[in-house]
Amino acid sequence: MKICEAHLEKVKQAIKSHGLWDFVSEDAEEYLKREKALIKGGKLSVKNFDPLGVMTGAIALNAVLWGGFKLALSDGCPLCEVEDDADHWIEQSVGVAETLLEAAKRYEETDCKQKK
Ligand SMILES: [Zn+2]
Repeated sequence: MKICEAHLEKVKQAIKSHGLWDFVSEDAEEYLKREKALIKGGKLSVKNFDPLGVMTGAIALNAVLWGGFKLALSDGCPLCEVEDDADHWIEQSVGVAETLLEAAKRYEETDCKQKK
């Protein structure tokens, strides 16, 4: 699965219009650092939250649910496949990102309370 340039631009616009752009990793290196922190068992936090990564994951999950692994594992853009529904998928995925950011903020508040 690879989101095409035109749809990637729409995903980025959604991130900006929802006020999440400041959370996007500056570059691929920074993004991989955050991913590694999560994979190593780190808890989701505001520091390792990346809305672009979250949205790509949510779109991939949608692709599996909608078109099976055949679509998700193809080289094509799943948003091109669903055409008219693409905007809805993007809105849904930005909703997932917002929900996870809220969760990350809650975890951090909880951690702070435990340390006192
Ligand atoms: Zn596309």
